[in-house]
Amino acid sequence: MVKETVETTSHLIRNIGTLVVVPPGPLTGRRMREFDLLRDAALLIRDGRIAWFGPAQEAPLDEGVATLSAEGGCVIPGLIDCHTHIPFAGERCAEFIRRLGGASYLEILQAGGGIHATCRAVRNATIDELVAENLPRLQRMLALGVTRVECKSGYGLTPEHEFKQLEAIRELDRQQPISLDATYLGAHALPVEFADRPDEFIDLIASEDLLASIARQGLARFCDVFCDRGAFNVVQARHILQRAAAAGLRPRLHADELAQIGASKLAGELCALSADHLEHVTDTGLATLKAAGTIAVLLPGTSFFLGVPHCDARRMIDAGLPVALATDYNPGSCMIESLPWIMNIACCQLRLLPTEVLVACTANAAAALDVHKRVGAIEIGFDADLVVLDTPSLDAWFYTPGRPRVRTVIKAGRVAYRRPEHLK
Ligand SMILES: [Zn+2]
Repeated sequence: MVKETVETTSHLIRNIGTLVVVPPGPLTGRRMREFDLLRDAALLIRDGRIAWFGPAQEAPLDEGVATLSAEGGCVIPGLIDCHTHIPFAGERCAEFIRRLGGASYLEILQAGGGIHATCRAVRNATIDELVAENLPRLQRMLALGVTRVECKSGYGLTPEHEFKQLEAIRELDRQQPISLDATYLGAHALPVEFADRPDEFIDLIASEDLLASIARQGLARFCDVFCDRGAFNVVQARHILQRAAAAGLRPRLHADELAQIGASKLAGELCALSADHLEHVTDTGLATLKAAGTIAVLLPGTSFFLGVPHCDARRMIDAGLPVALATDYNPGSCMIESLPWIMNIACCQLRLLPTEVLVACTANAAAALDVHKRVGAIEIGFDADLVVLDTPSLDAWFYTPGRPRVRTVIKAGRVAYRRPEHLK
């Protein structure tokens, strides 16, 4: 028998208590909760891809691969965090405490805090410093079962510093196992120096040359705009995203978080890959998103962190939208880096079922990043991005919020994380 090593990308996983056979996304309605839960299963990985899975007694005899025991635990697809603001610099803990004391976001912003504070910190950081500060964040996320993360620029707010953030994402992608998908978010906020000149700022960060350069260098695949009250309006967002699309950057949108200004409708009209937040979405907005096949990315960690009402996830699933969940990890409105914690909020507060929550963080999150034809599901030929839990069932995982239940993380067939013995 071949001895198990961390180097090989071929494994036979035996003794799986429950194999959660999430189908490829995007999934909607009942398909988000009704799929196979295979008890007493095995799964074969060959050269980093899923080659076979089924009942344990039917496992192929393959002398050439290492075996790995799931020890009766549950095996799920690797988790995908499809909306974060990594890489950022600095922290805003004092602002968090001020908000608990009653200060509003606007008051903090007008005092030079909020996003402006993070913008200053990012502008003052080098690429190496951004990488050094954000690498541990990704390493901790890997230990939570996350194998793919979307990362945004948007704290540089000048061409030079936006590029720096995108280059930091590329370097972070090289330095650790999680795959990163980069989004250009030059229109995240109006920087103080352009406070009364929004059109000039948009000309600067959405110039054809700049967008073409980002696309040509492969620094980002997507373009995002914060389209909301106090940020960019629908006309501005449409202009930026149409230009980005012409350059080859697919649109996504921060939509309907703070107020209803028509952002989700715009996302649908532009066939955006995702519309994110949607706390204030209307039925018309939902219908437009559904018709366009846009993924609804919900960020309940932000509502939790800010202490404001949640979006209505059940209404969106019942309306037939493919729903994804993500952290929105950022130093201002959601300093939660744990996707399992967000999944628990979705269960306990949005009243989603464990199966729906898992689909939202695997198959549908993959669809929000346009990688659903090769990750986010238990499917032959898909990348073997897998997580072994120490619970025998999916339900048991969600019954213990906050407790680390990830035993092993496999990325492209390779063991990328193994929980230390003393944390059992
Ligand atoms: Zn965000």
